[in-house]
Amino acid sequence: MAEVVLDGVGKVYTDGTRAVTSLDLTVADGEFLVLVGPSGCGKTTALRMVAGLEEISEGTVSIGDRVVNRVPSRDRDVAMVFQSYALYPHLNVRDNIGFGLRLRKLPKTEIRERVDRAARTLGLAEHLGRKPRQLSGGQRQRVAMGRAIVREPQAFLMDEPLSNLDAKLRVQMRAQIARLTRELGVTTLYVTHDQTEAMTLGDRVAVMKKGVLQQVAPPQELYDHPVNLFVAGFIGSPAMNLLTGALTRDEAGDFAVDVGSQRLSVPAEVLAARPALAGYAGRSLIVGIRPEDLHDAALEGAEPAPGAVLRAEADLVEAMGSEVLVHVSVDAPPAVTEDVQELARDVGAEEQVPDPDAAHSELVARFGPRTR
Ligand code: ATP
Repeated sequence: MAEVVLDGVGKVYTDGTRAVTSLDLTVADGEFLVLVGPSGCGKTTALRMVAGLEEISEGTVSIGDRVVNRVPSRDRDVAMVFQSYALYPHLNVRDNIGFGLRLRKLPKTEIRERVDRAARTLGLAEHLGRKPRQLSGGQRQRVAMGRAIVREPQAFLMDEPLSNLDAKLRVQMRAQIARLTRELGVTTLYVTHDQTEAMTLGDRVAVMKKGVLQQVAPPQELYDHPVNLFVAGFIGSPAMNLLTGALTRDEAGDFAVDVGSQRLSVPAEVLAARPALAGYAGRSLIVGIRPEDLHDAALEGAEPAPGAVLRAEADLVEAMGSEVLVHVSVDAPPAVTEDVQELARDVGAEEQVPDPDAAHSELVARFGPRTR
């Protein structure tokens, strides 16, 4: 096992497209690090440079203590799992899993033992004689995992390995990958565009946008303390609500944000945690509210603190079983920045790109089962 280090790594394709810029990233020995970002942000390119499938234009990649920029892919001692699985259709499961070991000319008995062990771990022992076409999508995915495991590599590199599975199977396989990699303790770099996958799998998550790393942190820290608007909007589902507001300071020295005609007070502890906020007094800013931080005062029957109330009108209720999503309209202008527009487009919601002239914002509130 080994540490994987990217130091100032950049990629410019031969047609001049810049895919990755000055990427500094360390995957610690035994760590599961997820690289996440919208389509086209350069995550696959970064992974392929580590794998040796793409030339590195700038910087260095090290695996263990060795700089591998000039080391061919097959000598890097990493195992890749692709979205397509890349199984050999004419070989059965046993031969697909053992293929890399046969290339390395390992003794037959050792190959047999390693394949048997991997097949047991992955629940494939009964399918060793089958061809890929006789397997379900989930089983094929496990064969691809098996092929990576038997090589006992220094690191796993995985590129969207679950994206060809249906939603239910994806959740099952996600749990299996989490269990397996924890058990094996192998350094893993995992690429996905799915932020739920990133949050559930990663010891740490690295968020990329347009080839540039935005933040690397454990999932909860990313969620609670995003460093910028892009990370705030990308991590979380449903996404954080974003409004345009203005920070004001009254004679008593208390801070509040005005959103539309409404005023929300800024708690002293928020200001204490972020003293730089005081410098924004009198200026416009973007207010982010997580859906689960909105509560229905009438339903809960508790008197809300003054300054913590946002009057809103519900216009759509989505019952999800375990929770309820309520879409509400607030008389406050939406936040419209390049980041917000890009994020809205990335979730495939062209029509949800905020209208800069709108007087009302659509917010999503998320209520647990208790408040139904
Ligand atoms: P996705 O999730 O859609 O796979 P990604 O984040 O993995 O996206 P990359 O595939 O790394 O993104 O692509 C990053 C950028 O590099 C994109 O703008 C893409 O169009 C460009 N790109 C990728 N491969 C090539 C290539 N061979 N030649 C030129 N440009 C390329």
